[in-house]
Amino acid sequence: MKRRILIVEDEEHIADGLNLNLEMAGYETVVAGDGQTALELWSQGGFDLILLDIMLPGKDGLEVCRTIRKESGRIPILFLTARDRDDDRVAGLLAGGDDYLTKPFNLQELLLRVAAIFRRQTWYSASELPETRYQFGDYWVDFASYQALGVTGEIGLSQKECMIMKFLAEHANEVVPRDMILDAVWGYNVYPSNRTVDNFVARLRKIFETDPSHPKYIHTIRGVGYKFTPSGESGTSIEL
Ligand code: CA
Repeated sequence: MKRRILIVEDEEHIADGLNLNLEMAGYETVVAGDGQTALELWSQGGFDLILLDIMLPGKDGLEVCRTIRKESGRIPILFLTARDRDDDRVAGLLAGGDDYLTKPFNLQELLLRVAAIFRRQTWYSASELPETRYQFGDYWVDFASYQALGVTGEIGLSQKECMIMKFLAEHANEVVPRDMILDAVWGYNVYPSNRTVDNFVARLRKIFETDPSHPKYIHTIRGVGYKFTPSGESGTSIEL
């Protein structure tokens, strides 16, 4: 079955280019020219990925993303942004986006990202942990429902947050380099910013750590990456 992609882009020539290239790559596509239309189409269901422009007439891409994330953490959202400022990228990620491409982007790069997103989804659903509800300390993550129990109670996670937790759980008590997380969760070796992983980890710490600056579970291994200790080790993180 063909994967269905919702393209949300108000600039017609970009939307047309995306549409054509994604169709040629074997995907089924639907185009929305503004945020409201995008939400209406999305609510009808059946999409596997959303390509979401940030600067849109009416509701902007960040608002569209927030609205979708209130209902579902599942569908991957790839932001398309003309802005090349770090705070906009961070805002996009905080709004619940999973990844972004800065315009003007190379179509080949876009196709690689899209393929990587779907390849990672396959890994995620095939990857086996003994139970879908993974328990550590007082908390748990349910990898099937994308729900978690954290410091503030039950919370919905985004797909990327779930993927990172799953990857960390699969490599519990091991030092995991950032590159490994990027490769496993985003699916390509060269990514513009390792800070993306750090941003996601900061979010996960807010969910699972009572004191995010003194983590018990997700430790920073300085200059390398992270180490997840499900038993909860306060103050024993290895800072290299
Ligand atoms: Ca735009």
